[in-house]
Amino acid sequence: MDNSFFLDAMSWSYSRISCFNQCPRMFDLTYLKCEDCTENAFAQWGILCHSLLEKYFSQQVELWDLAMLYEKDYSKIVTERFPFPRLEESYYERGLEYFETFNGSLNDEKETLMVEDRYTATLSGVPVVGVIDLVLRNPYGLVVCDHKSRGKWKSKDERRKYLRQLNLYSVYVHEKYGEWPKGLWFNKFREGCIDIEPFSKTAMQADIDWFLRSVDNIYKTKKFIAKPDRFFCNHLCSVREHCEHSESFIS
Ligand code: SF4
Repeated sequence: MDNSFFLDAMSWSYSRISCFNQCPRMFDLTYLKCEDCTENAFAQWGILCHSLLEKYFSQQVELWDLAMLYEKDYSKIVTERFPFPRLEESYYERGLEYFETFNGSLNDEKETLMVEDRYTATLSGVPVVGVIDLVLRNPYGLVVCDHKSRGKWKSKDERRKYLRQLNLYSVYVHEKYGEWPKGLWFNKFREGCIDIEPFSKTAMQADIDWFLRSVDNIYKTKKFIAKPDRFFCNHLCSVREHCEHSESFIS
């Protein structure tokens, strides 16, 4: 089937490409068939922590209120259940500890320039959309920062894949501020650390090429074949109720 009609109307983002790479069927059900999405507790916990960091960095809340707001909002936002009770407890406690001990600064930054900035742009004629968690200025220059709810990286490759997102954001940051960032930061709030990568134009160009190749590849895809992974299909996939590979499938 030719999906050009739907694909032409799309703005492309790192998450859309990642969705396709994770499972082409998930991309098809989400973006082409537009099936209803189902949430999961991991993502909801990430959204809660993201939203508190966003409010703090955009000066909507005070530092000393963060832990209280986390406790207050937890049950309103994390409405799904974690797959195992001990995970529920561990995530809840980890978030609370993070906001109780957060000192208000990620890593010596001097100025906050952008918070949750949604932008649209084009890359070689391809429409692009993105949401940048934070752009900061520290004594060495600009920093593009992404809050990450995941724990330790599984491998160097996994970390490299996530850096693609920050490199794509760097193009827009350069357009807006007229300078390239000096650093790409992951605020890994579950681990309680900042993971820093120096910005490299070579890596950025490789990631732009990857992005454009991926869009092209999706255009050429005729069959969006499922790539099942048991844990992901049963607990994380947002269209799991519409796919027979998940225990949540509603026939
Ligand atoms: S349930 Fe699994 S196989 Fe089905 S769409 Fe989701 S990720 Fe793909």
